[in-house]
Formats: sequence, structure tokens, C-alpha cells
Amino acid sequence: MEVVQVLHMNKGNGDTSYAKNSTVQRKIISFGKTIIEEALLELSSNYDIDSMGIADLGCSTGPNTLSVISQIMDIVRAASGHLRRRVPEFRLFFNDLYSNDFNSLFMLLPAFYKMLKEEKGIGLASSQCFISGVPGSFYGRLFPSNSLHFVYSFSSLHWLSQVPVGLESYAVKHLNKGKVYISKSSPQSVVTAYSSQFQADFSQFIKSRSQELVPGGRMVLSFLGRKSIDPTTEDGCYQWELLAEALMSLVKEGLIEEDKVASFNAPYYAPCAEELKVEILKEGSFIIDRLEAFEVDWDGGAVADTHNEQGKMMVGERVAKTIRAVVESMLESHFRLGQDTMDVLFIKLAEIVGNHLSKTRTKYINFVISLVRKASHINLEAQPTD
Ligand code: SAH
Repeated sequence: MEVVQVLHMNKGNGDTSYAKNSTVQRKIISFGKTIIEEALLELSSNYDIDSMGIADLGCSTGPNTLSVISQIMDIVRAASGHLRRRVPEFRLFFNDLYSNDFNSLFMLLPAFYKMLKEEKGIGLASSQCFISGVPGSFYGRLFPSNSLHFVYSFSSLHWLSQVPVGLESYAVKHLNKGKVYISKSSPQSVVTAYSSQFQADFSQFIKSRSQELVPGGRMVLSFLGRKSIDPTTEDGCYQWELLAEALMSLVKEGLIEEDKVASFNAPYYAPCAEELKVEILKEGSFIIDRLEAFEVDWDGGAVADTHNEQGKMMVGERVAKTIRAVVESMLESHFRLGQDTMDVLFIKLAEIVGNHLSKTRTKYINFVISLVRKASHINLEAQPTD
């Protein structure tokens, strides 16, 4: 599967859109706020920046996208006031894959510019803000050398650049039958294929950003991962286990071919902290300032009680809708399901998730990492001798 061409969150503002079903991701953003604030305060106090380059990698569309950037501008403005400096000019770049719904995002901008002007005085003579969309994959270069001061990415880096080598739909032998991601029953070769793909992608990501960020520039990354070294533990993979179960139940009903499930593997990976550190240290351009993990409810912390039938259904539906808004484009491209069958699939998934969560409250693990691009003199500095 060509992730670069296929993957996009559900477009528009409808019932199954990402814009309407991204509460979990919003929650994740709220957890990252203090770390973003810390990073920006450090950046502002260490450097007097006239024109600040800021990039959101994997921006998607909807309220989340503009809420983060708005917070960032507030923090920088407050820091500038505190330091008695001019508020910098903002160069903001929204990046996502080619088929992202940039149109919906751009349509939010007139109201956003109005708000900036009226509430923050940005856009008036003293301070300006220039926004651009940058389509392309963050697993390669997107920006000119040394052009960015702050990069952030929320809920995006768990997507791989491709289905791992050897597990593609056209592979001669299907190694992960009946599953769509690493599972307890997957052979070791599947686990290895996934972790190797992650290593290749993540190191490419770090390398590209090291060229684009100025020395001393900062990066805050937040994405799903797992606590244990073992990739088959529930917190790292169970949402895919349940999606596979829903797909297999449609196979039983004759709505999907078994072979289609056998040949589908998600281009996704939930790494553990050790894997992240290894790649960052190997690349060598960044210092890890902070690395934290926290738990997130599958339903974004909705209050529904899963001990009664109605609550179970509500939570199941909510989780299934969140998953649908994210994975539907991939399923559509691989399974070629009609709208009715897609609906049946997610009704089934809602039921399975509701039942599961009424027994075990499985949660996602989310990492937030704050990185500083080493100043070049750190690399060049001679080791002290005695
Ligand atoms: N940051 C937003 C959206 C997260 S959804 C939020 O927090 O709500 C994840 C986004 O990452 C999707 O829009 C998806 O298209 C994008 N994405 C996945 N792989 C990507 C890649 N290689 N390059 C750029 N964007 C990517």
C-alpha cells in the first residue's frame, strides 16, 4: 500500500469525519501542552528570533490543528513580553500527506486570522503571521536547511511510511493471516519486519529534521507507543486485534474474502521508549530533553459507564467512530468495501470494543518527547584533555 497516496483522515465535517471524531487526539494535545510551553520558553529565552519558523507535521484538519498553533503563539507572545522583546513574525507551516483535506483546513483560516487580529493583535503592523500548507511525507526533507525554530507533531508518527517490507498485500506468502498488525499469534518475522520498518522511518525523520532545524531549535513529538519491550502487550496493539476480529466476522458472513484480510497489514507501529532513544542517539543531532509516557482512554475519557448495556454500546460506538475516522481511507483502498459494508464493519467493531472495555479497561500509551537540536559547536568541540 502506498501510504503516501492513500492515507488520509476522513474529510469534511460529517458524522464520520476526523474533524468530528478526534476527541482522543485533542486529549493527547492537552497532555503535551506543558512540554510545548517549556520548550518554547527555553527557545525564546536563549535566542532573540525575528522571524520564527514553526512546522506542524501531520496537521490533518479540524479544530485540533488550529488550537495547537494558537496556544503556541500565546506562549511566544507572553515570553516576548516577559523578555521585553518584540513579538517575532510567525512563519507557520502545516504539513500533511497529499490527500489530506487541506481545503477544509484553509477554509478555517479567515476566521482564524480574524481572531488573531482581534484577540492577539497579530496581523497588525507590529506582528505578522504567514501560514502555508506543505504537502509531502515527513519521512523526507520538507523544508530548506536551517529554516525552522520549532517543529511539533501530534498523533502522527505512529504511521509508518509503508507497510513493512515482506508484509505488503502483494507479498507471495501471507505471514500474518487473520491479523492486521502485530499480534500474540504473529510469527517473529512479522515483529521483526515491523520494528525494522520503524527504525528505518524514524531515523529518516530525525535526520531530515536535523537539517531543517536551526542549531538550538526545538522539537516536540507526541505519538502512540507501548510501555513494554514486548510489542504484543495489549497497550501496544489491542485496537488492531479487535479490528481484525471485526473483519474476520465479516469474512464469516461472506461480506469480505478471507484472503483480503490475510494480505492486509496496517502501516503503523507503536514503539517503546528504548527503540526511540536508540534511533535518536544513533543519529546524533539531538539532545533528549524530556521523554514521558502517559495513558489515554480509548474513548478519550468519556464518562460512560461500561457496566450497563447502554454505556457499553455508547463507549463502543465512540471508540469505533474514532478508529473509523482514521483508518477508513486505508480499508477502502484495500478491501474496496461499499458504504453499507463499511457501516456493518464499524457496527461490529463497536460491539466488540464495548464488550472488551466492559471487561478490561485497555488504554493507549502516548509518548511526548522534547528534543533540542545540538548547536554545531557541540559536535565540533574537542574533548577535554587533562
Ligand atoms: N495532528 C493532528 C492530526 C493527527 S492525525 C491532531 O493531533 O489531531 C495523523 C495525521 O498524520 C494524518 O492527517 C495523516 O495523514 C498524517 N500523516 C501520516 N503519515 C504522514 C507522513 N509520512 N507525512 C506527513 N503526514 C503524515
